[in-house]
Amino acid sequence: MNNTTDYQVLLYYNYVHIDDPEEFAAEHLQFCKDLELKGRVLVAEEGINGTVSGTIEQTEKYMEAMHNDPRFAEMLFKIDKHDGHAFKKMHVRPRPELVTLRLEDDIDPHETTGNYLTPKEFFEAMQDEDTIVLDARNDYEYDLGHFRGAIRPDIETFRELPDWVEENKHLIEGKRVLTYCTGGIRCEKFSGWLVKEGFEEVGQLHGGIVTYGKDPEVQGELWDGQCYVFDERISVPVNRKEHVIVGVDYFDGQPCERYVNCANPECNKQILCSEENEHKYMRGCTHECRVSPRNMYVKEHDLSQEEIQHRLELLGENLKQEA
Ligand SMILES: [Zn+2]
Repeated sequence: MNNTTDYQVLLYYNYVHIDDPEEFAAEHLQFCKDLELKGRVLVAEEGINGTVSGTIEQTEKYMEAMHNDPRFAEMLFKIDKHDGHAFKKMHVRPRPELVTLRLEDDIDPHETTGNYLTPKEFFEAMQDEDTIVLDARNDYEYDLGHFRGAIRPDIETFRELPDWVEENKHLIEGKRVLTYCTGGIRCEKFSGWLVKEGFEEVGQLHGGIVTYGKDPEVQGELWDGQCYVFDERISVPVNRKEHVIVGVDYFDGQPCERYVNCANPECNKQILCSEENEHKYMRGCTHECRVSPRNMYVKEHDLSQEEIQHRLELLGENLKQEA
């Protein structure tokens, strides 16, 4: 029997005023727990942003209840079938903002934001010569998959994006700028910031990459790789017409779409890596991480000192090697 459609993952956000985020979060957590959902929801005075998983029945009840609240009546849910929960726990957390640009640059998307483009409009605009496409996500998200030809800002967190743009204005000036992110929430602010900075033609992909991948007409065309998501799935497919792998293995540069966390919990860096290289490098991104006394791979596989020494030797390293 095929159970892959028994669960759903919902991705959603809404910029709308919430009076008391702390109180809302506490009540919402109880509500989600009563429904037996799992996931991660952020609540701020500026709105709500969440990913939750549950059975079809549980998630349908959740969406109905949210739509009955006038604040969330118009909220768009992106729905993915899944073969189980995509989280282990249920968290609802109050936050000062849903997403954070540089503090001094905070944007209210209801006041200033870029033009919303449907997947079809985005697909067409992307192919125009005078257009540049700017990825509004972090470097590790880009590295797993992105729109063909999109610019990769060299950033690890969203709040670094304004600085990056200011340092790289020459790439953008005089062009029509298109931005995109996973579900659209970051672009609402980032495209608004670009407008405020004086860029005249700014468009954002409405509903983000996940909506683009579901659009029956464009079917994810011009997307290469996979889309990084912030739950246990780690990635979801986008392009239904062709699958081009753009991710490369951290260790040997071979095509790869498998993310793991560095086994040193103090590092925890996400790296693309084949199963073979995971064993070879004991899932450590550097020599220091491989020989860390807290290396989780070593614990999981119960490696003896001799075995560790043996694997290090194969890499031309040894236990006493200096940093
Ligand atoms: Zn590491």
